[in-house]
Amino acid sequence: MSRRHLSQRTVQDIGSARISRLLDLSEEAIRSDRPDRARRYVDLARRIGMKTRVKMPKDRRYCKRCLAPMMPGVNCTVRLSGHKVVTTCGMCGEIRRTPYLKEQRK
Ligand SMILES: [Zn+2]
Repeated sequence: MSRRHLSQRTVQDIGSARISRLLDLSEEAIRSDRPDRARRYVDLARRIGMKTRVKMPKDRRYCKRCLAPMMPGVNCTVRLSGHKVVTTCGMCGEIRRTPYLKEQRK
C-alpha cells in the first residue's frame, strides 16, 4: 500500500486555500439568498479546519450558532456598547459580545 506523504505544512496550505474558497462561496450564497447553502459551506470549511488543524481566518466571521457567515450590513448588525463590540446575527438572532480593550490601549 502506497500512501503519498504530505508534510503537515503542505496539508495546512491546501486546507487554508480550501477554507478561504468555501468561505467565499458561502458569502456568495448569502448574497444570493441561499442561507442553507451558505451554512453548508461554512460547516465544510470548519471540518477542513479541524482535520488539517488550520484555524479559521479571523477576519471572516461566522455565527457559532447557525453557522451562517456574518457580513455587516448584509445579515448581521455590529454595534458598540461600552467596551464591547456587539454583533447580532440576522439569521438566528445570536448575540456575540467581543471586548476590544486591546485596541483601546493602542
Ligand atoms: Zn446565527
